[in-house]
Amino acid sequence: MTSTSLPVRTRFAPSPTGFLHLGGARTALFAWAYARHFGGTFILRIEDTDLERSTPQAVQAILDGMSWLGLTPDEGPFYQMQHMDRYREVVAQMLKDGTAYHCYSTSAEVEAMRELARANGTKPRYDGTWRPEPGKTLPAIPGGRSPVVRFKSPQDGATGWVDMVKGPITFDNTELDDLVIARQDGTPTYNFCVVVDDWDMRITHVLRGDDHVNNTPRQITILRALNAPVPQYGHVPMILGPDGEKLSKRHGAVSVMEYDSDGYLPEAMINYLARLGWSHGDDELFSREQLVDWFDPDHLSKSAAQWDPKKLNWVNAHYIKQSDDAMLAQAITPRILARGGHPQAANLIQVVRLFKDRAETLEQLADGAMLFCGPVQTPSAELVTQHLTETARNALRDFAIQAQGIAWTREAISALIKSLLATHTLKMPQLAIPLRLAVAGTTQTPAIDAVLEILGQQTVLDRLAAI
Ligand code: GLU
Repeated sequence: MTSTSLPVRTRFAPSPTGFLHLGGARTALFAWAYARHFGGTFILRIEDTDLERSTPQAVQAILDGMSWLGLTPDEGPFYQMQHMDRYREVVAQMLKDGTAYHCYSTSAEVEAMRELARANGTKPRYDGTWRPEPGKTLPAIPGGRSPVVRFKSPQDGATGWVDMVKGPITFDNTELDDLVIARQDGTPTYNFCVVVDDWDMRITHVLRGDDHVNNTPRQITILRALNAPVPQYGHVPMILGPDGEKLSKRHGAVSVMEYDSDGYLPEAMINYLARLGWSHGDDELFSREQLVDWFDPDHLSKSAAQWDPKKLNWVNAHYIKQSDDAMLAQAITPRILARGGHPQAANLIQVVRLFKDRAETLEQLADGAMLFCGPVQTPSAELVTQHLTETARNALRDFAIQAQGIAWTREAISALIKSLLATHTLKMPQLAIPLRLAVAGTTQTPAIDAVLEILGQQTVLDRLAAI
């Protein structure tokens, strides 16, 4: 039974053992985009059954990351720990149906079976001691020992699926052990919980990292034993770092929320992450709506994608340029405060307009804004001697006098500068650099007329008077 004709239901099923990393975010994005494209349902399921490694902070980090990226689930978050009764119920049913059995072998015995298999040059596996078969007499149940529950995995034939990303994949059933589905204390194991939830949540398409390929035949065989529909699977290759190695901390930030702190816009992240393993012709820049419109599994790449920080910056710069000035002004306000600056010291909309065409991140935008919102830098004595020469000071004095009488617009300031260049026979840098030094304490700023306009007439005159 396949599930192609059912309404699409996808899920993102992270284990909350750390932050939401880039690979996880991309998986979530693909599952989300797939559901959106087909008018389906996107579900968030937190796989928190590994009590030693799962933390509430990690759950929160996942929720924060998803919400920052705007990947809102239609259903969930559901927590596997809240489904324990259901897993136990299915285990009991399978025992009843004969698709699972009690196994009393100790772990030492199982290890010995594996050793033996290894010594014989065969695949290490459980030897089936407690597997019931017609006509087989099982050993006497040892006293005082609780059993595990094993799935009675098919031993003949093969289990395969047509992977939405990788194409046909087949595993010989002899390769699949009789998987433990419930431990001695009755707790269900990882693959089993995934199966029961995918079934109960009526998941039609599973998109996940290709580190799960080996779990898929096990999950399919259990689903079949349960007479449950088998979803379609798509296993996305991993993300590599710029050096071709598996993307890790040593390549920089791997937590999605670090990109928030570093000044990346969620829209840029979505656009960039989507292109890591999926394509729509040569399109590099597209909106969330276009992504949803275009997203199809046929263009998911079989080969690993490479993280390219330069390209991400380029994408982010594009989204900054496109962003609304008021939104950007608001976004940089806390960043200015974090730098000890005063966001109210300047009209941030004007500031944003001045820098948004050149900023690759909100952090760079905030750095730029500090020209107006931070303390005035004190230039080095060397710079002062070099640029505030007598000639320059004369021109600055004239500028200060005439500046008092003009309307404080960029155009009027520019006209005044031009007329002073003529009367003092100076070239642009010979006046612009001293002006920068005098009003901002640095020789490098964006266009001086724009900078002066934003600083405001009084501030400029005060600073000129102080040199
Ligand atoms: N919980 C698994 C993980 O975080 C994903 C399971 C799945 O997608 O089937 O890697």
